[in-house]
Amino acid sequence: MAENCIFCRIVRHEVPSKIIYEDDCLLAFHDINPAAPVHFLIIPKAHIETLADTQLSDEALLGKMLLLAPKLAHELGCENGFRTVINTGPDGGQEVYHLHMHVMGGPRPWRQ
Ligand code: 5GP
Ligand code: ZN
Repeated sequence: MAENCIFCRIVRHEVPSKIIYEDDCLLAFHDINPAAPVHFLIIPKAHIETLADTQLSDEALLGKMLLLAPKLAHELGCENGFRTVINTGPDGGQEVYHLHMHVMGGPRPWRQ
């Protein structure tokens, strides 16, 4: 856990968020600044800075993140599909350095 990481603070429930899903290794919550009618983030509870920092030992964790996306998207009414995005590093437009997967859906034209 990183002391001052905003997403670690959300994991510790120190900072409020609209939590959609929680288990022993993952947390999903609504993005504070949604770019689509449905926009939530799936994060590992463990502080991993970027996708580029993951290793073979994170294989199951990454698989769980991917499998959770369609399940929650469906529950939130993304009947016609959704977009998944993982920004990585400065050139990838990453702003929060705690691995997260964006899931965006709902009626367009929100498309970026
Ligand atoms: P990135 O550019 O790093 O992939 O995206 C970070 C995302 O985290 C942005 O979409 C931003 O709106 C979201 N975000 C940043 N701080 C908070 C926060 O405190 N709470 C929530 N729910 N989302 C946040
Ligand atoms: Zn963190």
